Amino acid sequence: MSRVLITGAAGFLGSHLCDRFIKEGHQVVAMDNLITGSIKNLEHLFPLENFEFFHQDVSNYVHVSGDLDYILHFASPASPIDYLKIPIQTLKVSSLGTHNLLGLAKAKKAKILVASTSEVYGDPLQHPQSEEYWGNVNPIGPRGVYDEAKRFQEAITMAYHTYHGLDIAIVRIFNTYGPRMRLNDGRVLPAFIGQALRGEDLTVFGDGSQTRSFCYVDDLIEGIYSLLHADYPYPVNIGNPDEISILDFAEEIIKLTGTDQKIIFKELPKDDPMQRRPDIKKAKELLSWEPKVNRAEGLKITYEYFKSLSEEELYKMEHNDFTKYIKK
Ligand code: UDP
Repeated sequence: MSRVLITGAAGFLGSHLCDRFIKEGHQVVAMDNLITGSIKNLEHLFPLENFEFFHQDVSNYVHVSGDLDYILHFASPASPIDYLKIPIQTLKVSSLGTHNLLGLAKAKKAKILVASTSEVYGDPLQHPQSEEYWGNVNPIGPRGVYDEAKRFQEAITMAYHTYHGLDIAIVRIFNTYGPRMRLNDGRVLPAFIGQALRGEDLTVFGDGSQTRSFCYVDDLIEGIYSLLHADYPYPVNIGNPDEISILDFAEEIIKLTGTDQKIIFKELPKDDPMQRRPDIKKAKELLSWEPKVNRAEGLKITYEYFKSLSEEELYKMEHNDFTKYIKK
């Protein structure tokens, strides 16, 4: 059995990763500063013997006692609204935070997998995006704090590999959705579903001709799990290549929710990428991985999850009181 540190453990992807490692019988050390994560995503794991939680900001010094076999660095605000609100923390967690975790990985002789992003491609001029494409990023635009920090993260992770011989993996994650996304995180799927559930109009930014390709969370976690166990230190795209325009996506959500909401158009945020679709040839060849859940199935599960939330959760941020979960 391995002992695994997962940062950003209370977040959407972090909590699903914790579940996966626990399911395989591993020992999970979970860490989160709870700025954007929700402790509710982990509450079912607190009673387990092989789960520990530390309320810690990995941009500061990170201490973990005992051995570690793997580190998965998933701490970071990940929605455009969040990184506009907390730009400095966004920059720090993928730069200083990554540096701390690389140091920890080196000290523990652990393998580290870092969560990179399709945002390293910026507003891409190559379509679909393969790992060889270097991207089109505005360093000082509103998304620069996320994009450049993630690019730096890849660079320093690779430097630890080439200079120190550290065992690394880099996953470039494309738009992902599923249960445990925050309804108010500003991303398009929770935004649309939340609007439909509250009886509000759906806000399409720009004319809705921009495209995204949405991957269901279980597929993504499977891809990450395989990549961690592969011997490949270069970036690998994990995502679903099924591309759709945001306007068509809004119409799908209206059909799914059976509501008669109108679509209203709002200004397109600055530097919003016009198109995004992963080229997943590498993941297919290297990991024999490809997504299995189609959008209709994935959206149905996700909608059921959001429908099950209470009124309060539909309107408010979740309250992060983790003290009640701490083992005495
Ligand atoms: N978007 C939208 N309405 C919303 C929220 C987002 O039309 O209420 C658009 C956004 O402009 C972008 C796409 O949906 O083109 C995906 O946005 P998201 O924030 O989910 O993630 P991104 O892929 O841009 O990082």
